[in-house]
Amino acid sequence: MAAQETVEHKYVYDFAEGNKDLKDLLGGKGANLAEMTNLGLPVPPGFTITTEACKAYLATGEEPDGLADQIAAHLASLEQAMGKRLGDPRDPLLVSVRSGAKFSMPGMMETVLNVGLNDRSVVGLSAQADGNDRFAWDSYRRLIQMFGKTVCEVPGEEFEHALDDAKRAKGTQNDLDLDADDLRGLVDAYKRIFLKHTGREFPQEPREQLDLAIRAVFESWNAERAVVYRRQERIPADLGTAVNVVAMVFGNLGSDSGTGVAFTRDPASGAQGIYGDYLANAQGEDVVAGIRNTVPLQELEKLDKKSYDELLSYMARLEGHYKDLCDIEFTIERGKLWMLQTRVGKRTAAAAFVIAGQLVDEGLIDLDEALHRVNGAQLAQLMFPRFQLDHEFQPVAKGIGASPGAAVGKVVFTSARAVELAAEGADVILVRRETNPDDLNGMIAAKGILTSRGGKTSHAAVVARGMGKTCVSGADELDINIPQRKFTVAGQTVTEGDVVSIDGTTGKVYLGEVPVMPSEVVQYFEGSLDPEHIDNALVRAVHRIMSHADAKRRLTVRTNADTGADAARARRFGAEGIGLCRTEHMFLGDRRELVERLILARTDDERDEALAALLPLQRDDFVEIFREMDGLPVTVRLIDPPLHEFLPPLEQLAVNVAVAQERGEDVAKEEALLAAVRRMHEENPMLGLRGVRLGLVIPGLFAMQVRAIVEAAVACAQRGGDPRPEIMVPLVGAVQELETVRAEAEKIIEEVTREKAVDVLIGTMIEVPRAALTAGQIAEAAQFFSFGTNDLTQMAWGFSRDDVEGAFFWRYLELGIFGISPFESIDRDGVGRLVRIAAEEGRAARPELKLGVCGEHGGDPDSVHFFHEVGLDYVSCSPFRVPVARLEAGRAAVETDGSDSR
Ligand code: ADP
Ligand code: MG
Ligand code: MG
Repeated sequence: MAAQETVEHKYVYDFAEGNKDLKDLLGGKGANLAEMTNLGLPVPPGFTITTEACKAYLATGEEPDGLADQIAAHLASLEQAMGKRLGDPRDPLLVSVRSGAKFSMPGMMETVLNVGLNDRSVVGLSAQADGNDRFAWDSYRRLIQMFGKTVCEVPGEEFEHALDDAKRAKGTQNDLDLDADDLRGLVDAYKRIFLKHTGREFPQEPREQLDLAIRAVFESWNAERAVVYRRQERIPADLGTAVNVVAMVFGNLGSDSGTGVAFTRDPASGAQGIYGDYLANAQGEDVVAGIRNTVPLQELEKLDKKSYDELLSYMARLEGHYKDLCDIEFTIERGKLWMLQTRVGKRTAAAAFVIAGQLVDEGLIDLDEALHRVNGAQLAQLMFPRFQLDHEFQPVAKGIGASPGAAVGKVVFTSARAVELAAEGADVILVRRETNPDDLNGMIAAKGILTSRGGKTSHAAVVARGMGKTCVSGADELDINIPQRKFTVAGQTVTEGDVVSIDGTTGKVYLGEVPVMPSEVVQYFEGSLDPEHIDNALVRAVHRIMSHADAKRRLTVRTNADTGADAARARRFGAEGIGLCRTEHMFLGDRRELVERLILARTDDERDEALAALLPLQRDDFVEIFREMDGLPVTVRLIDPPLHEFLPPLEQLAVNVAVAQERGEDVAKEEALLAAVRRMHEENPMLGLRGVRLGLVIPGLFAMQVRAIVEAAVACAQRGGDPRPEIMVPLVGAVQELETVRAEAEKIIEEVTREKAVDVLIGTMIEVPRAALTAGQIAEAAQFFSFGTNDLTQMAWGFSRDDVEGAFFWRYLELGIFGISPFESIDRDGVGRLVRIAAEEGRAARPELKLGVCGEHGGDPDSVHFFHEVGLDYVSCSPFRVPVARLEAGRAAVETDGSDSR
């Protein structure tokens, strides 16, 4: 019934047919080999089998129709170009079969070299290499080894042992000492290993070798380690890999041959110069496998000046072409240079900034593009203190950098012990195989968390990130024994109380106390490093790119700050006001007693007295904050949490009462408190008597706060200041709530500002879904909206963060229900939709309505882009995230508002 498929799918591309923008189809390696071919660089000829072919194969377990014929056709033209036939006994063409996905997955996927060699063509290869038997047999044994391991799952160690045996028999450590006869013997040994494990002879038919190798590369996409890696790096699972078939060139033809890797700049620091390694008389993987010592790339100048100069000119060419740091693989065959791979190279956060700055200086990119090349996650990384590492400290294990930072402390193995030692003032690192919700208290008490299992989405990782705590997860070299309170790693035993240092950015684990040094980038933001006058490439690059971000961004960046000190710090970090000043802390400490009086008041007079006593204290707090933020808006949120949060816990009060009664003391007050706590108990405090509801239930509470704010502003103005208070009502769900509070507030404002005029705005949080959905009505009574995305997320999803993050988020992440925790990055489809609706309907009702967001999402890179798209006026985040938000707001502006360099 289905119509016959007549149009044949194109599954194979010659290098000349591709280009660097076809990474989806040709993978990164194939696309870049094509690009270099078209630039006229010396790339051995070859072709790429597409990711589409891989996906079709993985879906059905069979090569799709037409693939075999297309491969045959491209192989024929490759043979023609090379003037050789695959596996020809007299003069064989050999090829490599190389994996290459869209995103580089280092070490995850497979490559087979020297395909086409067999018992007969090995003789022809030798003859063509002027009788170099050694080279021919070395190539053949490599083929059997790689083919056996990759294609037929023969354990790799077996081949390595046979190689070691051959070296031992020869009395040498160096593979170069093995001569042709030794290698011929090794080929026989390898073939026996192959037969033993696969039950068949090593395949002699070249095309069969090729087809099996291609299949193996397809299948390596779903190898377990590749699956795990993709999950960690958030690479989609359905991309598939391309396969590149490339004519072999030989770096193992003698001392005038060799193979190497090169970087056009230092990927660690970004410094300009020549970085790389070279190994003479070697093939492929030998450089990174560390079988012999490589030499620095500069030494190639002495060994082969012509190839060296040529390589340098191609490096410059590639950098100019890609306008970025490139890394390169090359091989020299008897003095002739071949380019085998290039890609835009990975780099550290520091190098990303430094290189972007340099490329602007060199005129290769403009500042918009420089801004696009760095990101907030990198900037955040640079703002953490770092370990000061010298040769003394070598990591003993490397796990996954699950939550950044540098943490040093004594090892503990249980949550209880972590709490105990931390209470004694010790810094502790909680070490577990993996964590679960029972470890929560220990995680809170610890400076850092170290686990031997689990990735970036494990319980440990998710919870640590939520708490902003350093975490290394999945350090599987650690052999942890919880009952004996010890772990072993790299032959050493670490017991409770021993000090370790963990780096949550790199995932590295060190024994002992590694010194920690402050971030230069933070010093710059704080104003103690002047970028014009210090010789620090990183600080200068950060300064330049941040200045550009500030010039471009449409979003204003404010901070969440509750004290004058926080406000001052955030202002140094570039905050342009306060988006959220919580007033809760103003009810804590020695003021608790007044709050208790307020709660226990039996008469209006008692209550008014307590409020009157709180008023001057709050006013002083506000004066300090307005002073630090002079000339900038300060949004003060009226009290939000339920009042029972200010009372002692029930158990403690019950004990106090019992003890006091026992002693025959007067327990009237304790009893009253206990009764109040019982009375005020709520099943779901998050959804209970809090926010505006409190203000409407407890007479005078909001009025006192409004008066304190306005009196503080008037006091500042009278002293010549420029206070810009904005009063924010929390948890509003209906316009009537806001109208009621507002009517009372306006009377107070009117009265207090009679002495001295000060503009005071009144607005509301949008954090209850009903408020978002009735934003048009609410805007009639609000001069500004501030999205409280934490509560909005909780209420839109119907879960409370404290309960769910440790309980099941890891599972949701594992199942892919969340790509990322909705508390880390805003859920665009659901919560984001509420924000959009409220912004649109609010603005429609009141065009001058100011729109902002407060809550942790304000400092999350991806969320900042979303808020930019929705057209908010500002984001507000913790002081430390202010630079990140500035940078990302700038990036969002150049990306969405158009930039001609992209
Ligand atoms: P990876 O992606 O792991 O780097 P590659 O496909 O790049 O794997 O190949 C592994 C090694 O083999 C590299 O050093 C590469 O340069 C080398 N190699 C690949 N193809 C050829 C070839 N046609 N001739 C010579 N060396 C090759
Ligand atoms: Mg490679
Ligand atoms: Mg809230």
